[in-house]
Amino acid sequence: MKQKIAVIGAGVAGAMAARGLAEAGARVTVFDKGRSVGGRLAQRRHDGAIFDHGAQFIRPRDPVLTRILEAGIAAGVVARWRAAETDGRPVYVGKPAMATPLKLLLAEVPVETNCRIVRLARDTAGWWLEDEGDIHHGAFDAVVIAIPPGQAGALLATIGDSAPAELVAATERARLAPCWALLLAFDPPLYLAGFDAKRLDGGPIAWIARNTSKPGRAGRDSWTVHASPEWSTTHLEEPAETVASLLLEAFFAATGARPVQPRHSEAHRWRYALVTEPVGEAALFDAKSGLGLCGDWCLDGKIEAAFISGRALVKLMRDQ
Ligand SMILES: Cc1cc2nc3c(=O)[nH]c(=O)nc-3n(C[C@H](O)[C@H](O)[C@H](O)COP(=O)(O)OP(=O)(O)OC[C@H]3O[C@@H](n4cnc5c(N)ncnc54)[C@H](O)[C@@H]3O)c2cc1C
Repeated sequence: MKQKIAVIGAGVAGAMAARGLAEAGARVTVFDKGRSVGGRLAQRRHDGAIFDHGAQFIRPRDPVLTRILEAGIAAGVVARWRAAETDGRPVYVGKPAMATPLKLLLAEVPVETNCRIVRLARDTAGWWLEDEGDIHHGAFDAVVIAIPPGQAGALLATIGDSAPAELVAATERARLAPCWALLLAFDPPLYLAGFDAKRLDGGPIAWIARNTSKPGRAGRDSWTVHASPEWSTTHLEEPAETVASLLLEAFFAATGARPVQPRHSEAHRWRYALVTEPVGEAALFDAKSGLGLCGDWCLDGKIEAAFISGRALVKLMRDQ
């Protein structure tokens, strides 16, 4: 491939697409609105505490992904998280952060962070990407859009009727549920047996994890709590402080721990967190326009789905 290609979004799907296209010979530039790569593989640090407040772990079925993760262990950027291995299948985490392997994957690919793309335009030279600072990036022969469906649809809308109908329809078909995350740090540490990695059913909380139980996360005793999709939807527009105090109460009720004042408590809203209705195709590419779509929402709400989707888009673009 001799093409110049832009990839919008440096989550798992965008990173896989960018790496695959670069390996195929394309000149690739990645753009992401975030401060770093990873998207929903986010990690935050505060006052000596480390929180993985997005994706918690990878439990792969795909043999290629499993091989890459095992190679990541040898490279020191992936580790098994035994506390979450409940059904005999291996569970992996990035080390020291979920996104660390992606950084390695993108080491040779130019990435523009803090760069939100707000408009697409095409002229005789190719595709131009306009960021929110009115800077125009381009021209590119093809554009990979690797961002959640609502945002992808909004970008496609900026080219009006020339947006490929099949791509627009896919962005309209997919649905994601929100997730409120509560980040807690305790000093002295909270000693709780059985909650290093715990899924819960039926109440406001769907997941509790002691972040410090993951390999490579030393530091202050820190916890990630995820509210259920139902609870998160009901409380979506409430202030973060209100959500933090409701979820803290629910955390003590669910764990049976004696309520104490956390050293740190903070709620983070994921407006587009978990895929509830996927498109049902691994990726989409419109050869006529040179526009492609990938992301977990094409297949399923998991890191593995984003991985497969990014790779599938590379195959579609190479086979065109
Ligand atoms: C709370 C939570 C818990 C989860 N737990 C797990 C788990 O335990 N295991 C698991 O397998 N999966 C989990 N997931 C799902 C997993 O995180 C996703 O499936 C996966 O990370 C999606 O990757 P992606 O590349 O498709 O999208 P994203 O990670 O969303 O990447 C999209 C990227 O696009 C960027 N972007 C968006 N709009 C623009 C724009 N206009 N211009 C430039 N950049 C833009 C964003 O900054 C982001 O970096 C969880 C998700 C959440 C939110």
